[in-house]
Amino acid sequence: PSHILEAGKQVLYVLEKAGYTAYFVGGYVRDTLLGRPVHDLDIATSARPDEVVALFARTIPTGLAHGTVTVLQDGVPLEVTTFRTEAGYADHRRPDEVRFVSDIAEDLARRDFTINAMALDLRGDVVDPFGGRQDLHDRIVRAVGKADERFAEDALRMLRCLRFASQLGFSIDPYTYEAIRRHAQDIHYVAVERISSEWNKALDGPYPERIVTGILHTGLASAMPGFCQLFEDKYDLTDKEQKQICAVNGVVPRWAYLFLICNRETEVERILRALRCEKKVIRACQQITNIARKLHNSHTAGERMRWILEHGFEALYEAASLYAIIYENETTAKEIERLYESMRIKVLQDLAVNGAELQTEMNRKGGPWIRDLLLTLALEVNEERIENERQALLLRARMILNEDT
Ligand code: ATP
Ligand code: MG
Repeated sequence: PSHILEAGKQVLYVLEKAGYTAYFVGGYVRDTLLGRPVHDLDIATSARPDEVVALFARTIPTGLAHGTVTVLQDGVPLEVTTFRTEAGYADHRRPDEVRFVSDIAEDLARRDFTINAMALDLRGDVVDPFGGRQDLHDRIVRAVGKADERFAEDALRMLRCLRFASQLGFSIDPYTYEAIRRHAQDIHYVAVERISSEWNKALDGPYPERIVTGILHTGLASAMPGFCQLFEDKYDLTDKEQKQICAVNGVVPRWAYLFLICNRETEVERILRALRCEKKVIRACQQITNIARKLHNSHTAGERMRWILEHGFEALYEAASLYAIIYENETTAKEIERLYESMRIKVLQDLAVNGAELQTEMNRKGGPWIRDLLLTLALEVNEERIENERQALLLRARMILNEDT
């Protein structure tokens, strides 16, 4: 958004005015040159962290040792990092030491890909020592320098490479690609949270099939927790599957799609937990895979109605849309929509009695029976077997409970 850019320009201006050099760097430059929407802004400068702190009224010492200070400019937090080189990556993830330098070109050389290794100054001049603009034009992700060394330094870069190719729809430079295949096993050095975050960004993009085929073909999938179980018997996506996963909307339904085509719907929880996914996401994914599977098996209209009441129309519709894509059957989703429109009780709250009332009137301890009973009553109202009227519902509830005991 423009206020972020304005704040960023102000920061560059203040730094330049004080005699330092300063640039926009990284994703901001790449996305601006591509004409893509920009979400964050990174600034690099020749000023040392303490000099940055001294120049601005409000700063946060985010990562002083690595040269990063967050400047609050007009209420916008901006990361300002001193030009630096990095050395010694004993853990295959982070540099053991960073050294501050005064030349932007040295800073750009430590960055991962040519398209991420450009700098832009206040006058709109681009510093581009590695041919990033050409690669943007040719739509190629290419490692800066020797790909083998770059992936040996930091194994996360392999997944970032596939992520950028997937997000942007770019191809991968063949040397870079071969280096990923050679270093795939090193991915185990990377924290699972970082793996998940790159994967989710790619899966959410316009070319989700590329991250899937990318990790399968390079051997990354078999070296990553969770993914090795998910793709145990799956080595590739068919052309049809590649089209299908693009047609599915949203990260969670795309996850669900993968669980279904890999026949791993019973392992959603185990696998997503291994990837430290949020509980909410795990639940949603389980729900949509389970319903899509149920829709595929034979069932009655009454059961459909029950599922709508149990899980909510949204969840059912989402599952039906996924089902429509996997099983190439669009009628189910339409039928569910029509069924929902015809339902007098669309959610349990539409009933003329609620759970608390049932519990008091029936004079029983709380428990799962309450929800079961509400569901049964709602179905009977929808099937026009009883009226949605308090006394009638309570009477019927008593009968049902007596039948049960
Ligand atoms: P986006 O924010 O859209 O996901 P980005 O390119 O801005 O993409 P960030 O993770 O925000 O990615 O990193 C900012 C910049 O820092 C990158 O453009 C790149 O120049 C550099 N960078 C980030 N991670 C690495 C890494 N693992 N190795 C080398 N350089 C990196
Ligand atoms: Mg960024």
